[in-house]
Amino acid sequence: MSPGGDGTLPVTNPRTGEVDYRVKAWSADEIAGAAGSLREEARAWDALGVEGRCAALGAWGEALAARRGELGEALTIDTGRRTFAHFEVQKAIDLIGHWCRRAPALAAEAQGGQSAQVPSVHYRHRLVPYPVVGIISPWNVPLILALIDAVPALAAGCTVLLKPSEVTPRFTVPLAEALTEVPALARVLRIVTGGPETGAAVIDQADAVCFTGSVATGRIVAAHAARRFIPAFLELGGKDPAIVTASADLDNAARAIVRSAVGMTGQACQSLERVYVQAAVYPAFREKVVAEAERVQLNWPDIDSGQIGPLIFPPQAEKIQAQLDDAVARGARILCGGRIERHGGGRWCLPTVLEDVSDEMQLMREETFGPLIPLIPYDSSDEAIRRANDSEFGLSAAVFAGTEDEAIAIAEQLEVGAVSINDASLTGIVNDVEKNSFRLSGLGGSRMGDSGFRRFLRKRALLIQTAEAAPITLFSEGQVPSA
Ligand code: NAD
Repeated sequence: MSPGGDGTLPVTNPRTGEVDYRVKAWSADEIAGAAGSLREEARAWDALGVEGRCAALGAWGEALAARRGELGEALTIDTGRRTFAHFEVQKAIDLIGHWCRRAPALAAEAQGGQSAQVPSVHYRHRLVPYPVVGIISPWNVPLILALIDAVPALAAGCTVLLKPSEVTPRFTVPLAEALTEVPALARVLRIVTGGPETGAAVIDQADAVCFTGSVATGRIVAAHAARRFIPAFLELGGKDPAIVTASADLDNAARAIVRSAVGMTGQACQSLERVYVQAAVYPAFREKVVAEAERVQLNWPDIDSGQIGPLIFPPQAEKIQAQLDDAVARGARILCGGRIERHGGGRWCLPTVLEDVSDEMQLMREETFGPLIPLIPYDSSDEAIRRANDSEFGLSAAVFAGTEDEAIAIAEQLEVGAVSINDASLTGIVNDVEKNSFRLSGLGGSRMGDSGFRRFLRKRALLIQTAEAAPITLFSEGQVPSA
């Protein structure tokens, strides 16, 4: 959507369906100005050293903690859910704490040594941050996904131009207000708002870009970054499969799968969206999943009740309904839930368990980003692995089995970057373990674990010759030894 004459974009409230907020869309000139001032600050921020940078980040963490109520309530309006909104605030504070503890050791990693190839040369490494990192984030977990790359980038010595999603922008106000309390950080972190045009302007100015969002936009971002010859770290969509073997604890599997597929109304990249169940236990498992799903309540009309909120982005509701219509038209059976509901102007979807699904249905091939759980019986592990791998995505997966060995034997054959064993979507809560995104689910070094810091630093090698420098006669012709 392009901004109106006043340079703002309309924002819909997910609980009411009404446009009750407008957000400024920064122009390309304004973004260039912000990037210019960041570039002027970049050298001093790097020179401050990791301890000084972490002190500033820590002060911001305290300012955020002092505003946790305000931030949590802004996120509540942005997303239509309250408990998770406040959880996000705590997780953001914890994220800052984690990197402030971890960054000093990682920044001290630059080593020196002697070349094994040319022993007269010794070297020192310097870690050189990208001066300006552009960060573009989505609407489903607005605060965490805005900060998950920004905090390690800042700790590493980069300055950051951060553009969160225009769909959920209210939280950026208390976030930016807390920043004014830490002037050293406010000079090197600029929070800007706007839609695709502002995002493109950010890429135009950045030295590296971190993008979290859909595959479709990820392709545009990657092509844009390639034209500018800057690295693009992409974290994109998924179509995560779960495999439940006959030996699995079925109660545990049903509980974890429903939590993963339905939590945050399925609006999470690592939500399980396909469930393959060994035929011998299929009827018993189906019963347990349906019972678990039917216990889930909407947080409507009282936001402080139930477990799931509205669909945040209205067009997403149409996409989910289209996938359901396509599945039913092709013979799928809905066991519970099954349609988009309108309440108070918002759009909602109860957990929907389906069976008799086939691999060509849209809901088996495209990301849903909603609480749909298609169940598919299988006979052999080979069949389950083949069908789980039959996807253009490769984000993550889950395997439930009676023993770790049985689960690991399956997990090692899945073409994904992380596999949760006897639980689901563990990458949503375990952020300190490195993992990559496979296939169309992403590109570039891991944002999780220590690599999430290291990838913002380039290595400059200082190569010191201790012997006499070689003369040009080193290359004199006529020196080839005879065979
Ligand atoms: P989106 O791709 O529509 O938008 C993401 C961001 O890109 C927004 O800030 C948007 O303004 C910006 N943007 C749009 N066009 C742009 C352009 N041409 N140039 C630069 N920026 C542009 O994604 P979304 O709908 O906000 O988020 C949902 C998607 O994000 C889902 O596919 C989900 O799986 C994915 N996601 C992935 C992860 C992960 O870690 N892999 C995490 C969360 C969400």
